[in-house]
Amino acid sequence: MQKPYDAQNIFARILRGEIPNKNVLETDHSLVFHDINPAAPVHVLAIPKGAYVDFSDFAANASAAEIVDFHRACASVCDMLGLEAGGYRCITNAGADGMQEVPHYHLHIIGGRALGRLVDPA
Ligand code: AMP
Repeated sequence: MQKPYDAQNIFARILRGEIPNKNVLETDHSLVFHDINPAAPVHVLAIPKGAYVDFSDFAANASAAEIVDFHRACASVCDMLGLEAGGYRCITNAGADGMQEVPHYHLHIIGGRALGRLVDPA
């Protein structure tokens, strides 16, 4: 399913250089930067440079080069930020139930402390 992409979303604006970001890593197809409202001592966001709304849009429509670049960038950042020893969590939110706020695909990479259970019991 093709999902409409809002070119005015905040991550699109970061990619165009209209809004600053605390850059961690930039590759050919990906950007990783610090989350403005960190949930843990380490909390960065990895985004593809292409216009993808969410995980399933990225998985279905990105090129193999974009997908490989993105995941390798994420893994590099886990190493660069010292997360490999203690561990970390990668989360992506999608849609209303996932409570996705920014409609540009992003992976939260979170660590630096014990993170507790994945989801609060409803
Ligand atoms: P989500 O709910 O998965 O869409 O997460 C969106 C994330 O983007 C939240 O963790 C926000 O704190 C983060 N965020 C929003 N605006 C910015 C910004 N300008 N720079 C960095 N992170 C941001």
